[in-house]
Amino acid sequence: ASIFANVPKGPAIEVFALTRAFQDDASTKKVNLSVGAYRTDAGQPWVLPVVRKTEVGIATDELINHEYLPVTGLESFTRAATELVLGSESKALKEKRAFGVQTISGTGALRVAAEFLHHQLKRQTVYYSNPTWENHHKIFADTGFTKLHSYRYWDQNKRQLDLEGMLADLDQAPAESVIILHACAHNPTGMDPTHEQWKQIADLMERKKLFPLFDSAYQGFASGDPDLDAWAIRYFVDRGFELFVCQSFAKNFGLYCERAGNLTIVQQSGATRDMIHSQLTLIIRGLYSNPPAYGARIVSKVLNTPDLRQEWMESIKSMSSRIRQMRKLLRDKLVALGTPGNWDHIVNQIGMFSYTGLNEKQVGVLIKDYHIYLLKTGRINMCGLNTGNIDYVATAINAAVT
Ligand code: PLP
Repeated sequence: ASIFANVPKGPAIEVFALTRAFQDDASTKKVNLSVGAYRTDAGQPWVLPVVRKTEVGIATDELINHEYLPVTGLESFTRAATELVLGSESKALKEKRAFGVQTISGTGALRVAAEFLHHQLKRQTVYYSNPTWENHHKIFADTGFTKLHSYRYWDQNKRQLDLEGMLADLDQAPAESVIILHACAHNPTGMDPTHEQWKQIADLMERKKLFPLFDSAYQGFASGDPDLDAWAIRYFVDRGFELFVCQSFAKNFGLYCERAGNLTIVQQSGATRDMIHSQLTLIIRGLYSNPPAYGARIVSKVLNTPDLRQEWMESIKSMSSRIRQMRKLLRDKLVALGTPGNWDHIVNQIGMFSYTGLNEKQVGVLIKDYHIYLLKTGRINMCGLNTGNIDYVATAINAAVT
């Protein structure tokens, strides 16, 4: 018998399985609301014009070759990425107590962060929101964390943030627990704490000595303004927390497959920098040796060139405003159809996703009878909606709910 004979088949990853089912569906009415990627009003992926322009420049630049990058990546990229998240006026940057290392997009940043926290700081306990991006659990479990907990976050009845539940659960977390916080545009609920609520979260985390790990996969994509979307992170930094930020440039640059990411480390003082940097270097060396250059070169060029950066800012504004427009249209259409329930949460949520409140049975009806693909939790990607399909989707939701 084969030595592989007893390998069990693993469960399918829902979001990829849905996309496959969508591709195989012959219906002309089909709509994919599952995948976490931007789509234009014509339902197409979008290469940001500034990205296209920059890659053409890179392709013809005789000075660029394909030598290995340093283990911790392209320095001009990590500097720009770290500054993008902390702000150009950041005290932590001026005091040289913050730096970044390049990672394999946001997922890689989370994995490198988890490796460091587990193996260097001996952390065993992590808390993530309920619900959260499903990979959080896997990344920390695979790294070796033994105590994986969730904290309450979403009130399904009220369709809003359950701040009281969140604070009560974090109050029970042992000191030094790693707490994953979504910097903005919470995936999957689209519901972020207000500034006042962030203050309460920070108060509690400071009192209980909990370690903030910000997952920042949507900076600029939520409000259209990268500074506004980094508010919570900068607030925690200003209060003196030592923390990690895991940054992805998949969504805000549309560089999904290029795996451009950054792990930012904020310390109490610069004295610990070289030690941390050397340990991160060893972690990355053992995982994949060094990162890919392509996406990082694009991001670096754009962020470090004022007119290109301005163009990028315009693009993220246009993406986020198209999403907001779809939120309003969907809510208004459901209201106009008299669909039972309150749909205001769709416009109160922010970013790519909406937690619609549709239950598993209703989701089943949408997929089977209407060829509309969404996660069984009722999460939809607002970008899958456009002026060509929104009437069809609203009518289908109305039928599934009524
Ligand atoms: N974190 C959250 C909350 C996400 O939604 C995503 C992507 O969907 C990521 C991290 C990481 O994505 P990537 O590894 O593609 O940058």
